[in-house]
Amino acid sequence: MTITRLNSSVASITAFNADVRFNEIRSKVQLFEGKMGVGKSVKLALGEFNAAPCAELQNNTIRLPTWFLFKYDDIPHRFHVANLDDPRLADQNFLNELARWMNEKFQEAGLSSVVRRADHGILQTVIKKMREQELYEKCKDFTLCHELAHLNHAQVEQRTFYLNSIQESISVAGIIGGILLLFLAVAIIPIVHLTVTLAVGGIAVTVSILAILSWLNKAKPALTSSAIEEEKHADMDALEVLQDATGGIYLFETYRQQNLAVRRGHPTQAHDIDENGNNLRDKNHPPLTERIGYLRQWQSGHLRAHTIRTNI
Ligand SMILES: [Zn+2]
Repeated sequence: MTITRLNSSVASITAFNADVRFNEIRSKVQLFEGKMGVGKSVKLALGEFNAAPCAELQNNTIRLPTWFLFKYDDIPHRFHVANLDDPRLADQNFLNELARWMNEKFQEAGLSSVVRRADHGILQTVIKKMREQELYEKCKDFTLCHELAHLNHAQVEQRTFYLNSIQESISVAGIIGGILLLFLAVAIIPIVHLTVTLAVGGIAVTVSILAILSWLNKAKPALTSSAIEEEKHADMDALEVLQDATGGIYLFETYRQQNLAVRRGHPTQAHDIDENGNNLRDKNHPPLTERIGYLRQWQSGHLRAHTIRTNI
């Protein structure tokens, strides 16, 4: 009797709670916002299981796939894989059972998300990411910071646009004012003393010149960077916030290994993936090998700087 009660209380403590997980992610995003200096707090939303995490610029929202809610400990031990070559990863029964378990959790949480047969490739990647508890959490943090950086860049661009519009309006008003003053200076010649005419004329010329200069000097809009440059920029911003590249390296390395597994297992898809595991159809991100390269470079530079600091 006592044992039964104890067991059920343990089960209720460890049960997966989607709301708790969602709020934990929100707190993390708020922490990262502070570190990144994001002006306008971003919104968080859940998407489909098979969707990629993304930043929705038009509504300042990070949309995450539902698997993102799972922490390492939420997944029963029988589903964990210790390495990328675990033979169960290719076992349909194993994937079906895992999908069924996840679908049950989504349903219990009132989420409409479903893992379908067509999502097994993504399911493999998700469970591969969970092979290392600490790195799994770090790779999710990297993703959050990367998406947050995209929204931050959009916010900065929007502020520059508004400042430009305000400055433009002031310049136009200044030029019109200058012209009106010039007309006034001419109109008052017969009525007032020459000094007054000259003074008004002088002010008119000064106002016009200042307004024209302000127009010419208006803040230049940031050069629109290409999608690929923007992705690299977001990666680098994520590193600055986290001061650690291991989560990002782990993430991209997992994608690369998954791509190589697909290339080995499905010769028909081989032409979409190169021999290094890069997805040739993805034209919007730097190749995975390039991303891993600059992340590793950042990490070794960071470690060197850290060693020098501690040695001094
Ligand atoms: Zn991105």
